[in-house]
Amino acid sequence: MLIGGGHANVQVLKKLCMNNIKGLHTILISEHFEATYSGMTPGYIHKEFNKDEISIDLQRLCFNAGATFIKDKVVKIENINKKLELLNLPSIHYDLLSINTGSISNTKGLEIENSSRCFFVKPISLLVKNLGQIDKIIKNKKSKIAIIGGGIASYELAFSLSRRYKNNLEITILGKNFLKEKNLNKKTKKYLKKISKQLGIREFLGEVVTISETHLILKNGVKFDCDLSLLSSGANIESWLSNSNLNKDKSGFIAVDNNLLSTNDKSVFITGDACGIEDNFRPKSGVMAVRQGEVLKENIFLKLTGRPLVKFKPQKNWLYLIGTHENYALLNYYFLSFHGRWCWKLKEIIDRGFINKFKFSSGKSMTKKNLELEKSKDVKMYCQGCGSKVSKKTLVKYLNAESSNPELSDASIVNNNSSSQLQSIDHIKLFSSLNPFDFGIISYLHSQNDILSSGGSVQTISVSQGLPFSEGIIESFYMEYFMKGIKSEAIKDGSTIVSGHSYQSKEPGITITMNGIFEKQISKNQGKENDLIYLSKPLGTGYLLAAYFNNSDLISSINFQNLIEWLKKGNSKASEISKIFKSSISTDISGFGLASHLSDICRSSKLSAEIRLNEEILINKNIEILENFKSTGFNNNYSSSVNDVLVSNSNKLKNILYDPQTNGPLLFSIHIKNQIEFERKFQLELGFSPILLGKLKKPEHKLINVID
Ligand SMILES: Cc1cc2nc3c(=O)[nH]c(=O)nc-3n(C[C@H](O)[C@H](O)[C@H](O)COP(=O)(O)OP(=O)(O)OC[C@H]3O[C@@H](n4cnc5c(N)ncnc54)[C@H](O)[C@@H]3O)c2cc1C
Repeated sequence: MLIGGGHANVQVLKKLCMNNIKGLHTILISEHFEATYSGMTPGYIHKEFNKDEISIDLQRLCFNAGATFIKDKVVKIENINKKLELLNLPSIHYDLLSINTGSISNTKGLEIENSSRCFFVKPISLLVKNLGQIDKIIKNKKSKIAIIGGGIASYELAFSLSRRYKNNLEITILGKNFLKEKNLNKKTKKYLKKISKQLGIREFLGEVVTISETHLILKNGVKFDCDLSLLSSGANIESWLSNSNLNKDKSGFIAVDNNLLSTNDKSVFITGDACGIEDNFRPKSGVMAVRQGEVLKENIFLKLTGRPLVKFKPQKNWLYLIGTHENYALLNYYFLSFHGRWCWKLKEIIDRGFINKFKFSSGKSMTKKNLELEKSKDVKMYCQGCGSKVSKKTLVKYLNAESSNPELSDASIVNNNSSSQLQSIDHIKLFSSLNPFDFGIISYLHSQNDILSSGGSVQTISVSQGLPFSEGIIESFYMEYFMKGIKSEAIKDGSTIVSGHSYQSKEPGITITMNGIFEKQISKNQGKENDLIYLSKPLGTGYLLAAYFNNSDLISSINFQNLIEWLKKGNSKASEISKIFKSSISTDISGFGLASHLSDICRSSKLSAEIRLNEEILINKNIEILENFKSTGFNNNYSSSVNDVLVSNSNKLKNILYDPQTNGPLLFSIHIKNQIEFERKFQLELGFSPILLGKLKKPEHKLINVID
């Protein structure tokens, strides 16, 4: 279990990208989808690099590493029970833990008033996130900023801010002392002060005790006026970590031995800013975290295979490269100090060298070495003769905790007054690296579409879950996360889980059988000429997932997050509204794609459809992705529907007609006289617009006619 995508844990994952370790399940829990590389952050501030250039896409890294990515924040660690509590998701057990969660800004001895515009520089990802807010403040008026803390980070920040905001910002570095880092030589300090002077950056000696809206108050009572402040006064760790049972060093960081293991729990590694090495104080830095990562990535696997661990030997002195003016950097190493363009070049080579290790090229899959944990008795042969059932222990443990079906009865009795019911079954395979909780949500919504498109609502469900071959805490993790994800949607939907089945498989996935009730069944053959055709949400899950998992740089981490948000959006509200407006037909766009479902409607209703394809129909508006990537189901969909469609070859969106959807939109029709009222209500209740695809028409030569 890895907590935090810091500079060290990402190296463990990178190692897993090149090695397939049988018997090992790896999970990364990170509060962000992306990790920010500290060395390039000042360059991002002064707009030398963009956000993608300084970020590591953690979901993609996990995908390539064969690990599971969970976006959540750890809020408690019970290391005695080897258990982690998360902010939003169910708690998780681990066998071996690696904590690389960085640090937060130190606020000890400071009173920060709520009205103050004080921004923390740590964690560095928070500073990056807050930059937009700082921009807004400074855009409105020429501002005065105080950078609190006199360390080297404050100078580097000051140089970057000065370049970002030019003459719009008056910068003061305010510290109890200045440049006290013992590895900085005299010449470097002189350079730093000279560059500050050239850039109009001032120094002000003093200890800040209060930060308020318009000023700072120093310990000696002096008031210092400023519009905003940046807190760069050292590091601390968050309370979930400091309140744990793990030993702390003198400064309050988690104490580790020279193998980077906790001094009192040998199943927990801690690296980066969060740790303090016994009797070996070093300032917190990304460089240190990177170096520790090189040892951590070996030690984790040595520990798992019971071999002696490697020692981390912290350097006494290390290279500083600090960006100063445009294309200039200052180099400090022992007594050497240089300021020049070549120093910037060197910095760029080193930084890009690190971050590029975590970028993946489209279509190139890495050949992985197959390794086994040496304690091969732990790596079981799964014979599958038992129907690959999960262990009874896991099942009973889960059911008992849920207080449902503790006696393991074979079937449930469902009392139902209505005589006719809707029933459907659907199955989807787990996308590698996806959080199984999210997958539970998606699988519920995917199945729910069948009931909704028949005009019904879900009453009861039966779930069959295929878990990855595993046992103990891993089996429990998948079972619990799958089920809790499903349950979270069932609760919203007012449906009951009545029976279940579970098994182990090389292809984990979820099958859901749903029973639904309906007042008036909606079928596909009631379409009326001139009715408008709508989609309840945009399309594109098939090719976008293909592009992302092919490591295409056309689809970024933010694009992927957006895709997951759409995948987790259900159609029940849209279905309700379409019923209010007496939609005569309804279907859901599934794995067969839009063309297949729309042609079914036209064929059954003895009509044709005239539609227009524009960017609005796409989850991701970048058409280049649609043109370059196809999901595996595309070709089958194309060959079964192409003869029903008239679309010009030059239409850049034509591929979307055949793209397979997971939890796709509903397609329904609305009478033209209701158009405005329907669109208004939809927008009001769902927060986004329905997509007007076109209209139903008299039968034509082709069932679907795409007009340009
Ligand atoms: C302005 C500035 C410039 C700097 N420049 C440099 C530089 O040029 N070179 C250098 O060596 N150092 C630099 N540093 C220092 C550097 O930022 C830190 O020392 C470094 O980022 C620490 O790395 P880390 O691996 O410990 O953790 P981080 O890189 O901070 O990563 C920790 C990760 O854990 C996640 N996380 C935290 N808590 C939780 C939780 N509870 N649950 C789940 N996830 C969690 C965070 O979101 C984050 O992604 C700079 C610092 C500042 C403020």
